[in-house]
Amino acid sequence: MSNDSRKVLRGDVLDFTADPGFNAPGESPGVRFRPDHLVLIEGERIAAVQPASEALSPDWQIAEQLDHRGRLIMPGFIDTHVHCPQLDVIASYGTELLDWLNTYTFPAERRYVDDGVADEGAERFLEALWAHGTTSAVIFATVHKTSAEALFRRGSEARMRLITGKVLMDRHAPDGLRDDVAQAERDCVDLIQRWHGKDRQSYAVTVRFAPTSTPEQLVMAGQLVQHHPGAYMQTHVAENRDEVRWVAELFPTARSYLDVYDRDGLIGPRAVLAHGIWLDDNDRAVLRDHGAQIAHSPSSNLFLGSGLFDWRLAEQSGVNVSLASDVGGGTSLSMLRNMADAYKIQAMQGVRLSAWKALHAATAGAAQHLGLHDEIGRVEPGLMADLAIWDTAVGPVALHRDGLARDLHERVFAWITLGDERNLAATVVAGQPRFVRP
Ligand SMILES: [Zn+2]
Repeated sequence: MSNDSRKVLRGDVLDFTADPGFNAPGESPGVRFRPDHLVLIEGERIAAVQPASEALSPDWQIAEQLDHRGRLIMPGFIDTHVHCPQLDVIASYGTELLDWLNTYTFPAERRYVDDGVADEGAERFLEALWAHGTTSAVIFATVHKTSAEALFRRGSEARMRLITGKVLMDRHAPDGLRDDVAQAERDCVDLIQRWHGKDRQSYAVTVRFAPTSTPEQLVMAGQLVQHHPGAYMQTHVAENRDEVRWVAELFPTARSYLDVYDRDGLIGPRAVLAHGIWLDDNDRAVLRDHGAQIAHSPSSNLFLGSGLFDWRLAEQSGVNVSLASDVGGGTSLSMLRNMADAYKIQAMQGVRLSAWKALHAATAGAAQHLGLHDEIGRVEPGLMADLAIWDTAVGPVALHRDGLARDLHERVFAWITLGDERNLAATVVAGQPRFVRP
């Protein structure tokens, strides 16, 4: 490989080799901090990580050198649940989930029937993710095939790890936002055949949520999951109490909301279910037994008033949990802001969430739960060079606080709590710079 495909980043490398759990910060396993190290990138991948004090071999000395001394070099964040078209409705006032969908979200999503709107929306959305330090995401498009197509096309061009799919909904949605079982199946199969497994793109069978699919559509969705090994499944579950009651009315023979999905074969190791606030012990056992994951969406849960997710109970029950922004129900694409909200949600329940646990859930933990730990989530030779480079403090208050931190966790926790996308210096996707702070 020629030297112009080689880069060397210098900074403080932070990542995780195990789940820190709900342990005290000083007693957390898996925290790997490598101060003043070099990250050697060759093409799309990380070639080596070594102390800056160690001499570079001569052929690396002429590689592009990017000096980020004093900054954190981390794996790019993985946002496991976010809606591309909802950048149009982020920060919309005054409603809970079901009203919010009808008042804001559905009208916005209807515009994505247009190829141009879908393409511009996908471009704007992926650039926004990069500008927040997020390098991989599990994304809801809209019901329109072209909206998923646009995300795959843009994701493929950037060689970004992207998981998305056309939304399935054939009832309880306005005109222009409903599909039907047969057409939806054809669209999904076509998208799977053309994009799944290509250029870091993966297909997710995307059931919006149980109320917007007929029982027939759910059966079809389950068959798609079963017949396409490696395909993901994404949906929402048990977000809000009115929604849970509605699902019980619509599906009287299901044992629970989660069971609506489980009985049709939608729950497996590649299932990503947003929220999961109002689940019971049986549901948690089902998720655990299948190795499915909950995409905990803290800022959305607070903003829509949905409820307080009991993360520690989920963990004690053996359920995989990752972190998500759920924009536009969520109020920021910044995973830092979502971590700060996650901390407050746990604090309301008497539990302390360490910075280590929060960061792990948005990097190595999410990668593990998605079955992508050999590709993303850590700063390690052989993995893809998907990286974000951070200033731990920006602005007078954060700089003052940073200067008083007595240990690494204190400093990193203050960064998470006070920081956002303004702390981001640069984002690298597959070895290429996709965001550099002006
Ligand atoms: Zn959502």
